Amino acid sequence: MVWAHGLRLPHDLRIMIIAIDGPSAAGKGTLARGVAKHLGYHFLDTGSLYRMVGLSVLRGKSDAVAAARHLNPTAFNDAELRGEKVAEAASKVAAIPEVRQALLEFQRSFAQKKPGAVLDGRDIGTVICPTADFKFYVTASVQARAERRFKELEATGVTLEEITEDVKSRDERDAKQSQPADDAIFIDTSELTAEECLHEVIKVIEEGQ
Ligand code: C5P
Repeated sequence: MVWAHGLRLPHDLRIMIIAIDGPSAAGKGTLARGVAKHLGYHFLDTGSLYRMVGLSVLRGKSDAVAAARHLNPTAFNDAELRGEKVAEAASKVAAIPEVRQALLEFQRSFAQKKPGAVLDGRDIGTVICPTADFKFYVTASVQARAERRFKELEATGVTLEEITEDVKSRDERDAKQSQPADDAIFIDTSELTAEECLHEVIKVIEEGQ
């Protein structure tokens, strides 16, 4: 982080922010969690916030905007959050500007946690933390992403074709908020293992600090 007149804040006083964006099932969650663990930083999966709002609407508990304004952090661990129905509901509520606005402050204040934070999502490098120290945009082919999601959900009886359609329709719905920042570093994970991907990103961060 370079301050006015090129002065650098001493290393131990800086709060590092690492933004990891990309489409669904590109591997950014695993990567972001691994980066946070490696560096000893806080980690926020911002998709979970939208999923909590989506789940609240599916359960008929409240409307989307009210749910976003009154987030219940204990719901973070709700097992139902990970399902495809909730993912779909999340991407629908994510298109509502008031929902995005309500979740913005939560994410920005999380990003101020010392000594640093890793946030993964769609608009971290563009909207939530445009001055993040590092921005990554993690992608993979539709086929690679669908196959990964299929492996996770195979036991539920869903087919690869259904998952592929879900991935495509979520991409279409998310297209508006899922744009890479101009200064983001692209990582294509189609041919990389999770470890290779983590290694590449850690290398960029350590060389760039
Ligand atoms: O990342 P995940 O699949 O859990 O996100 C669920 C949905 O939440 C996404 O499909 C997207 O519509 C929305 N989302 C968003 N902005 C973020 C994170 C997620 O719009 N920063």
